[in-house]
Amino acid sequence: MTDSSASTSKGYVLYIEDNPLNAKLVQRVLAAEDYEVRVAVDGLKGIDSAIERKPDIILMDINLPDMSGREVTTRLRAIEDFKTIPIVALTAQTDEKQRAMTIAAGVDGYITKPFDVEELVQRVAFHLKGGKEQFQVNLTEAQQQYSQELVTHLERKLREVEAINDELRRMDKIKSDFIQRVAHELRTPITIIYGYSRLIQTADLIKPTLQAHPEFRAYVDGLVESIERMHVLVNEILTIYRIVTGEVEAKLSAINLASLVENVLADFKKAAEQRKMNIRFTKSEWPTTVTADNELLTLAFTNLVGNAIKYTPDSGTVTLKCESLQDKLKIQIRDTGIGISKEDQKRIFEHFFSGSNTDLHSTSKTAFQGGGLGLGLSITKGIIEAHQGTIRVESAGKDEQKLLGSNFIIEIPHRKNYETLSSSSNSTRQEVLPEAKPDSGEKPKS
Ligand code: ADP
Repeated sequence: MTDSSASTSKGYVLYIEDNPLNAKLVQRVLAAEDYEVRVAVDGLKGIDSAIERKPDIILMDINLPDMSGREVTTRLRAIEDFKTIPIVALTAQTDEKQRAMTIAAGVDGYITKPFDVEELVQRVAFHLKGGKEQFQVNLTEAQQQYSQELVTHLERKLREVEAINDELRRMDKIKSDFIQRVAHELRTPITIIYGYSRLIQTADLIKPTLQAHPEFRAYVDGLVESIERMHVLVNEILTIYRIVTGEVEAKLSAINLASLVENVLADFKKAAEQRKMNIRFTKSEWPTTVTADNELLTLAFTNLVGNAIKYTPDSGTVTLKCESLQDKLKIQIRDTGIGISKEDQKRIFEHFFSGSNTDLHSTSKTAFQGGGLGLGLSITKGIIEAHQGTIRVESAGKDEQKLLGSNFIIEIPHRKNYETLSSSSNSTRQEVLPEAKPDSGEKPKS
């Protein structure tokens, strides 16, 4: 859009026109007459521009690239502010039927191109003073034809959108399949590299060298840690695609939730100590018999506790609470960390959404703001939903100084009968589960 302003403007003209030569000509002619002219190059931009700043008069081309000038007129006339604003068609269409339909759409005047410069100036002044052209048309017939044109156009657009959607879905599937295949292919070599690097780290033969050369020990430790992280990431990708395709099944049995959470916390013990975190968990408050999937819930708690530690600075507090309500279990994982902005709260459960600063990403899953692929919470949501539960977050916002904290709330319905939820016959569940626990030093199973 371009502006041409005069200091003592006679009026503000919005010209909706996609042809730059026509736009320039009208702009020049009207600017010379002390009008302020803004050009919008298609129908949607024209509507936006008119709403953003109400013009005194609108000059409307009819053949626009996205929607016709008639449709723009109908749309604007539906808005209270534009019911009486002069709208004048400026068009090369001389066909009587087209003209009648344009009049039926609600224009006040009709100027055919090529127009006489003098005539244009006069007509703009005339319409600005409230003048309306007297049309001799059969409005009922024109309105019917215009309605048919509108429906046909709408149908064409819907078909276009449908075709684009199909194509996007196809592309999305190709992308998902590709990511899944790559993750699958990477998994085996990474598992082998991880196994060998752990052997090097612990082999008696190499121990004296590692002890004699601390810098060499640091290289080996860094190598193991990075490969372990890579292994977790590849598993996260495979897990998320199984959740997306409904292949993750919650196999329900009577599990000891108190022990499950205790075990998850034990895996984070070393990291929590290093970061001087205060983990509050009272085992006796947690139920010992819950109908759920032990392995999936372990993964969900691992993600949530890991995040709580990751997004809370050293010496912070992570509190885990569980209440048994009438029909459900309510679990809360609260931290005193950086918190989550209201904007991000809407998106954190989406696949690959990461609100963290990628500059801070590290190989450790528990380093402050270490970041990740943005899959942990979407996996967790998938797991909770596979238990027919819900997960949500509460946070007063993100502030790295004030540390407003976050609280993740899970609600899972009480269930007595053991069954398999969200099952899929070809699920290979063993592969779904994380095999390397963060900072646990455990070797993954291959
Ligand atoms: P990531 O691998 O990036 O941690 P997640 O899916 O686990 O992926 O989390 C998505 C985003 O949600 C994170 O990048 C982070 O911005 C935000 N987030 C998750 N948990 C917390 C938390 N406890 N405190 C603050 N931000 C969090």
